[in-house]
Order: sequence, then structure tokens, then C-alpha cells
Amino acid sequence: MAISKEAYKEIEDVVGPENISDDPSIKDAYRSQYLTVVLPGNTEEVAAVVKLFNKHKIPFQVQSTGWSFYPPEYDFIFVDMRRMNRIIEINEKNMYAVVEPYVIVAELQAELFKRGLTCNMKGSGANTTALAMSGHGHMGLSTGTGDRNDLATEWVTDEGEIIRLGTVGASGEWFCGDGPGPSLRGVIRIGGVMTKQSTKIYHWGGPTKYALEGNSPRYTLPEIPANMMVRYYSFPTVEKLIEAELKIGESEIAFELMGFCPSMVSSNITTNNEEDFATLERFTKEVQGPGFMVIIIGNFPGDFEYKKMVLEQIIKETKGKSLKAVEDHNAEATLLFQCTRVTGSIRETFRAGGMFSSMMVQGQRYDLHVEWLEQAAVWKRELIKKGLIIADDGQQFGWGEEQGHLGHTEIFCRYNPYDADSFKAVHDWMDKVAKLALTGHYSVPVNSALPIEEIGSQACNYHIWLGKIKQAFDPNLVGARTGFSYVGADTAGAHTLVYPPKPPAKQP
Ligand SMILES: Cc1cc2nc3c(=O)[nH]c(=O)nc-3n(C[C@H](O)[C@H](O)[C@H](O)COP(=O)(O)OP(=O)(O)OC[C@H]3O[C@@H](n4cnc5c(N)ncnc54)[C@H](O)[C@@H]3O)c2cc1C
Repeated sequence: MAISKEAYKEIEDVVGPENISDDPSIKDAYRSQYLTVVLPGNTEEVAAVVKLFNKHKIPFQVQSTGWSFYPPEYDFIFVDMRRMNRIIEINEKNMYAVVEPYVIVAELQAELFKRGLTCNMKGSGANTTALAMSGHGHMGLSTGTGDRNDLATEWVTDEGEIIRLGTVGASGEWFCGDGPGPSLRGVIRIGGVMTKQSTKIYHWGGPTKYALEGNSPRYTLPEIPANMMVRYYSFPTVEKLIEAELKIGESEIAFELMGFCPSMVSSNITTNNEEDFATLERFTKEVQGPGFMVIIIGNFPGDFEYKKMVLEQIIKETKGKSLKAVEDHNAEATLLFQCTRVTGSIRETFRAGGMFSSMMVQGQRYDLHVEWLEQAAVWKRELIKKGLIIADDGQQFGWGEEQGHLGHTEIFCRYNPYDADSFKAVHDWMDKVAKLALTGHYSVPVNSALPIEEIGSQACNYHIWLGKIKQAFDPNLVGARTGFSYVGADTAGAHTLVYPPKPPAKQP
């Protein structure tokens, strides 16, 4: 595609000739033949180019780190934020860090570890943007979900206006995302460009740096750092698992509780498919039912001993059983650094047995979500029996975030996307499970293929309200939102294919 020469020149005047391109080889690298790529270097440049997109009615989409970016199938401008890659501030006293969109979490966390601090990290991991955004992950138990962490934010609207939300707008300080007046923290998820954001930071009791040895993909830690421990427990029933999770939450002893099923543990600690299949088979025989992985970090030896004792007592009361393979040094070490630095998501997602496909619900009723999850598992096991889902232990995957106050549950499976029968069966299963979430009033299914109207009709018609907000903030409908976008998701975590603008008339 080509945007008009006039528009190209005006945008080039803002960012400089080296920061705009419609060279086919560059476009190819961005997975689309349609776009022109623009790389603004600061907030003012972002605002200026967005104003030009409005002037010329060219739709645009922004990418931070591109882990869930899907280029729209029509002409648009692609705004790549990689030049905005600075950590602006780490405020140890008031416990926040301010970042630009292309700071990845690995960089921020490495800086924070040196100060005895850490930040929330989505399960996708260390390579994704450090903007808090929405999302969920390993540290949800102690740091909450992504959207609980975003504080003051600098945001360029779809019309090109720079807005500073929360305290940064009122006092220039970054400690709070709300006020004065109504908060826009939900609204920013439907459009515009976040150019800076403050995210909460937390105490870290682990080492300032892991002393890793070995080479990729087989790194290890010669010694487990002091006062740290990883265990995987399985339970006789799902009720016992929930009881254990809630007790761990109430006692606030754990740094991390991840609702891994055995196949996720196995894909984390193995480095090739054969090893993964064999390990999973061993795990499946050993576990007694659903389970989770837990990481304990003591601040000093006495604290560590106390936390371990409480954990032991909870596991005893709930009849949990420790997976022996995780007590092995190498497995424990791998899980420890991979799950606190969050570097295993690719292995968890694209593992032996095919692609990972998931859909999730999130909210205050973890008990209900688990009921939904169990029904999904019953249906999934039928597909496993028929050989349509492979290398899957038949379990599901969920956990209580925020010390058990917020449930996060995901259905997932591994399947072969190149096998037409498997592909169809898995997608039918996902639709059926998404419909169950709605009709059973369990929660709003995220990442489902159901039409947004069907989801909205069961959720206060939120899509109509979102549409009105989008129209008010983006009258020229230039700000695209396509793809599975946590950033673009509304705060209820609902359907995310929200409001791509209508393809405009062809450019002259
Ligand atoms: C293997 C894998 C595993 C994953 N596991 C998890 C997981 O466990 N938990 C989880 O929560 N997520 C997971 N994800 C999804 C992942 O969190 C998101 O893809 C990622 O956080 C999005 O951030 P990004 O910067 O890469 O977004 P991008 O891909 O760059 O963009 C995503 C969306 O946000 C918009 N956007 C991007 N930057 C901005 C900005 N600065 N301002 C406004 N809008 C913007 C884009 O237009 C797009 O619509 C996983 C993804 C992959 C590929």
C-alpha cells in the first residue's frame, strides 16, 4: 500500500526520514504488506503523527513489543514504539517505576532486583513490555494482575491530544493513576497510545542476580539461593486444591502460586520433545489430581522456616502430595529462575504435541470459575480419548490471584493445527466452553471466538457503551485495535477484538 506522497512527507517531517518506511522488505519484517512503518521517538512526535493520521484519515495501530499484534487486513500505518525504550524513574520510597513502552520487563526487573525490588510480570514474560497493562501471570498471587499495577499514565488520544492521567496530570508525580475527577484508566484500553506509565513495584527477597551456569536451552543454578523453595502439589479433589490455595492466600506465605498442570511443568523443565513426552508420562502417573506450583521466599532464615512450616501444615490438612520430580535440584532450579524471571512461556505455549490454545475467565468467583473449568476438562478428555488432543494430561489450569481474592482460570489444550479434524474439534470445544461461561453466568470469556454482540448481550451490553466511548474519543475512527490485545481489552477483561475502525475509502 502507499499512503499519499503528501501524507508521507508530512509524517517524515515529524520523525525524520530514517524513522519512516514503506520499503517492502521492512514491511515484511512486520508481518504485513499493507503498512507504512513509523517510529516516533517521543510523546510530542507521537501526538504530531497521530494528528496527521486524523488529518489524512489514515487508520493506525501501535505496537509496544508485538507479542499479540495482528496487522489488520487493510491499509494502515503501523506505529512501532521501539525508540521509546527508557526507564524514566525508579522510585524506591514510593514504590513505583515509570517506563516507556519499549522497556521490556526483563530490563526493569534486572534493575529492580539490584535494589531488593521486583515488579509484576505477565505470564508471557520477560520480553514483553513493562507497561503494566492488563494481563495475568506467575506473580498474580503477590503482585495482583497487570491492570492493578498501572498508576499514572501519559496517553495520546486517537485525536492526538496528550493527556496525563492521575497524579502526573495534577502534580507531576507518578504515584497514582486516578483523579482528580473520574478516572480514565478503563477508557485508555480502547484506543490512543500510551507513551509513559508508572507501574507498582514490590519487595523482592531473592538474590540481586541469579548465578546461572550452562548454555541455552539448559541453564541451571548450581545452588538454590538462600531462603527460596519451589514445590508442585497435587490434590485428591478440586475442592481440596481450592481450600489449599485459599489458605496459602490467607496466610500470605507465598511469593508465587501458579496453577500449572503437569504438562506445563514438564514443558518448563525439559528441552526437547522426546524428553517432554517422557517426563509428562511420568508426572501423569504420579499426580493424584489437579495441582499447582508454589514458590516460597523467606526474607531471612527464620521467616523462611516459618513459611515452610505453614505451607507444610496447609498441605497436610488438604491432603496434598508433592511431585517428587520437582524436589530434584535441577528441576527446582529451572522452575525457580524461569518462573520468577518468567522466561518459559514459549516452551509452555509451543511445546511437544502441538500448539497451545487457551481461553480464560477472570473475576471474584474463583469457586464458580473452577466449576466451569471442570466441565471444560470433562469435554476435553473426550477429545483426548479420540486422539484429537495429544500430549495433554487432561487437567485444566487456574489459580487464585491477589492472595486468593481474584480467580483466574484458563482452559487450554495442545493440538495439531495442521490436522483438520483436530483443529475443528478443538475450536468447537472452545466455542462450547465459551458459551457455557456465558449461559452459566460463570464469567466473561476472554479470547473466545464468539461474536462480541453475543458476549455483550450477557454483560450489560458493554460493547455498545465501549463503542460510544470509542466514537467520542476517536471521531475519525483512525485508532485501530485488532488482534488479541490485553492493552486493548476493556477492564472487565472481556472480548478483545474491539472496534477496529471500518476500513476507510482507498487513499488517493
Ligand atoms: C507465547 C505467549 C504467551 C503469552 N502468555 C501470556 C500470559 O501468560 N499472560 C498474559 O497476560 N498474556 C500472555 N500473552 C499475551 C501477552 O501478554 C501480550 O501479548 C503482551 O503483553 C502484549 O504486550 P505487547 O507490548 O507485546 O503488545 P503488542 O503486541 O505490541 O500490542 C497488543 C495490543 O495493544 C496495543 N498497544 C500496544 N502498545 C500500545 C501502547 N503503547 N499504547 C496503546 N496501545 C498499545 C496494540 O495496538 C495491540 O492492539 C502471551 C503471548 C504469547 C505470544
